[in-house]
Amino acid sequence: MARISINLKSAKVRKRSNIIIGIDLGTTNSLVAYMKDGQPTAVRSKDGQRTLVPSIVHISENNQVVVGDEAKNDLIHSPERTIYSVKRLMGKSYTDLEEKKSMFAYEILDEDEDKLVKVKLGMRYFSPIELSAEILKALKQRIEDELDAEVTKAVITVPAYFNDTQRQATRDAGKLAGLDVLRIVNEPTAASLAYGVGVDRQLDEVVAVYDLGGGTFDVSILDIQDGVFEVLATNGDTFLGGDDLDKAILDHWMTEYEGIFTSNNLQVARLLAEEAKKHLSFNDTFKGAFEGHEIQLERNIYENLIRPLVQRTIDCCANAMKDAGLSAKDINKVIMVGGSTRVPLVQEMVSAYFGQQVSCELDPDEVVALGAAVQADVLAGNQKDVLLIDVTPLSLGIETIGGLMDTIIPRNSKVPINAGRNYTTSVDGQTNLKVSVFQGERDLVEHNRKLGEFILKGIPPMPAGIPKIEIHFILDADGILRVKAMETRSGTEQEIEIRSQYGVSEEEMALMLLESIKNAETDMKKRAVLEAKVEAKNIILSAKKFLKQNLSILTEEEIQNTKLLTLQLQSTVEGEDKDLINQAMEQLNKYTNPLAHRALDHNIATAMKGKKL
Ligand code: ADP
Ligand code: MG
Repeated sequence: MARISINLKSAKVRKRSNIIIGIDLGTTNSLVAYMKDGQPTAVRSKDGQRTLVPSIVHISENNQVVVGDEAKNDLIHSPERTIYSVKRLMGKSYTDLEEKKSMFAYEILDEDEDKLVKVKLGMRYFSPIELSAEILKALKQRIEDELDAEVTKAVITVPAYFNDTQRQATRDAGKLAGLDVLRIVNEPTAASLAYGVGVDRQLDEVVAVYDLGGGTFDVSILDIQDGVFEVLATNGDTFLGGDDLDKAILDHWMTEYEGIFTSNNLQVARLLAEEAKKHLSFNDTFKGAFEGHEIQLERNIYENLIRPLVQRTIDCCANAMKDAGLSAKDINKVIMVGGSTRVPLVQEMVSAYFGQQVSCELDPDEVVALGAAVQADVLAGNQKDVLLIDVTPLSLGIETIGGLMDTIIPRNSKVPINAGRNYTTSVDGQTNLKVSVFQGERDLVEHNRKLGEFILKGIPPMPAGIPKIEIHFILDADGILRVKAMETRSGTEQEIEIRSQYGVSEEEMALMLLESIKNAETDMKKRAVLEAKVEAKNIILSAKKFLKQNLSILTEEEIQNTKLLTLQLQSTVEGEDKDLINQAMEQLNKYTNPLAHRALDHNIATAMKGKKL
């Protein structure tokens, strides 16, 4: 069934396209790409000029949102209503940012230190998620205009070092922009894909991705094997990028041309410095004019200015290589990403460090988005031989006594993965064990999604707690989960296969995560009660067993007291008060402890009787 949507702006009826788009949501620039006639292609502005959308959001006096090139001038004219580099704030709390506060030009709300930050633009506070959503909306609009169809599915890239909160924030921004985010992909993974790395599944490759953008530097070392991209190490500097090159030029000019720069024209001067930098990537001399003065910069002087900055990126590379335990000769390819890698000195120094020619044939501004488009195409099922798996989106585990979820593979684990844990029986002589497999983040399985179950049969009858049952989860690169249960003493074995990746839609996944956060507290309480009950039941069983075995050495009073305390514990187990259960357990334990010692001594004495030492 085709769905039709109406674009209210143009009152045009638009079809919904099935295309999945790739988005590079950058700190400085963002862009969108898609697979056009089998070729990843970045989408241009209406005038056909630029693929990059500056990641700048301006809120006008009458609360209109302006994004991209049109907002660039607002940075100069109304900086208090204009935000750039919002990506730096994604998934961060005020506490996270406090140290770096002086580096932000905008006001950050500090009311609640541990909540996610908000920034003030004009009269209102905005969350970084809302602001990023505005950038995403602009990109969505751009591709919808190009295709003349509504687009709803996307892959969005994030830096490899982004943590879960930052990834989640990016996902939420997508949702807010009306996009169903099918996958969050690491930027270096996307860049590698654009260069065709990982397409040949026979090859085992190690690549270094060097990404020098506007305000940040990242280097990632990836190992690509059988379609799986593993991040071996990342390093970088979140406050080092093209902006710093501009600043180095400006500082130089300020001493060279004293007096012509003032605090009022500094922003304009900064733009001129950037222009000089870009010009010097392809020419030996820059000549420009500023406030009626002629201004100039030679390439060799410029290179000396920026050499220490580039050296800092090389030091980061060395650290990443050390963490990965590799040396330059182990690297098969060095991929250059980010506008600042157009600087010849950068290419030169990176080539020298890795001892090889770097890969920079693709546009460094576009390469991440192009790779995201490739990934999107794979997800759409159009590239059958390419296989990409990164992490499991939700935790996988089994149900244990009391309906508790016992996680075996935590969410966000890299796949393929093989994890196992040992269990035992809870009833004497138990010969069957039901293994129920669940997916989700909640403490109680009833709130998670059941993926399947099977029964491990033929466990030889043994007292409770004696059988050793190993349960193994094997999640392969296709996202297929196999669960194996084995009683190791007897070798009894059982196995099922479950397709987990396709079980939950994105919406359901988001909902489940949200629920788990909302209910964390009640879940924790329930879990504590259940655990207390399980423990209490075990103690009641042992107390009964103890009485039965040791009647002869106990006084009538001791027997009655033990029975009474056991009954009291029994009655608390029927309730829901964890503290009462624990109290009753404590009382019973305290009372029976000396009795147990006496019994033990008696048993030893009996055993020794008649044995000569
Ligand atoms: P991000 O990933 O942070 O969004 P980009 O990869 O878009 O950033 O890089 C933006 C940076 O690239 C800016 O600092 C810009 O000045 C710089 N840049 C763009 N073109 C050139 C060039 N020809 N020479 C040097 N730097 C450039
Ligand atoms: Mg980038």
